[in-house]
Amino acid sequence: VSGYATRLARARERMGVVGIDVLLLSTGADLPYLTGYEAMPLERLTMFVLPRDGDAVLVVPRLEAPRVVEQPDVFSVLAWDETDDPVAVVAKLMADARTAGIGDHTWARFLVELQDALPDVQFRRAVEVTGALRVVKDADEVAALRAAARAVDDIAVSMRTERFAGRREIDVHRHLVECMLEAGHERANFAIVAAGANAASPHHDPSDRVIEPGDVVLLDFGGTMRGYCSDITRMYAVGEPTAEVRDAYAVLVDAQQQGVSAAIVGTSCSDVDAAARRVITDAGYGDYFVHRTGHGIGTEAHEDPYVVAGNTTPLVPGHAFSVEPGIYVPNRFGMRLEDIVVATPDGPERLNDAPRDLAIVD
Ligand code: ZN
Ligand code: ZN
Ligand code: ZN
Repeated sequence: VSGYATRLARARERMGVVGIDVLLLSTGADLPYLTGYEAMPLERLTMFVLPRDGDAVLVVPRLEAPRVVEQPDVFSVLAWDETDDPVAVVAKLMADARTAGIGDHTWARFLVELQDALPDVQFRRAVEVTGALRVVKDADEVAALRAAARAVDDIAVSMRTERFAGRREIDVHRHLVECMLEAGHERANFAIVAAGANAASPHHDPSDRVIEPGDVVLLDFGGTMRGYCSDITRMYAVGEPTAEVRDAYAVLVDAQQQGVSAAIVGTSCSDVDAAARRVITDAGYGDYFVHRTGHGIGTEAHEDPYVVAGNTTPLVPGHAFSVEPGIYVPNRFGMRLEDIVVATPDGPERLNDAPRDLAIVD
């Protein structure tokens, strides 16, 4: 029995629990999680039809059928031709289903067309089924996350000896993308390079701005390696930082450590957020920490569980997430420190181990 067969069996079991007759997965991460196949985000419909009782069928455009790695024990493939109506093909496969769980990332167009074709079917979110499976990583998944984390750790370390001054943000951005691909990532998902006041915008787009002595530079980058995501943030000061920056950075390091230390099995995501936030608030920077403390990570860069106030979900072994507090002072500077952490029975395990001090660079 393949790993995918096991996952499908668990999905079907969960469908029974929540009362979903058929799962409909198109673009997005649920489909590769259950089948190993990733749909192209195109106008032609790809849809995996998984009945709770009945055979699973992957409906694909004829021209994409060669990309499918067949898993005969898991699903069969039904290729549709250019003149076929793929929505009608899917509707027919749904037989007498009354409730359907559809993937979050399915194009709205296809959901609207399916609703028109099947007025008696109640559509719900597939995450009711797939969410509970995907949020707990097994040992192989943690190993993949760890390998991806180590790869970006090496890049974060190598940046400590790079020259920053005189390069544009966009140049460093391109360099990071190149490094991630060279380090074995099949895809670079993002590489934020934010110098000086630009770093006060947490998701700043790298620009033509030239990095200068005195700048504090935020690098936040990640990609996908063997299907699993990396995501790390480290800070670099071009020359000696000011006392104000040093003080704020010490607060940030403490906040991040408190967040990681709080990530014990049984603790709620909300409490992990609070542990990191309290340090920043107590130091007087509370208004400058404008986002949640972290996000889950797996085959998607951002997924459940979200480390945010109000999320009462208790951590369980296998939850993988970022701990990434930040301090963003408008028009002045911004800083963030981010590691990926896995909750284990022995306590929180950081997957990143690149030094967390404020690196002084040229
Ligand atoms: Zn972010
Ligand atoms: Zn990040
Ligand atoms: Zn992140």
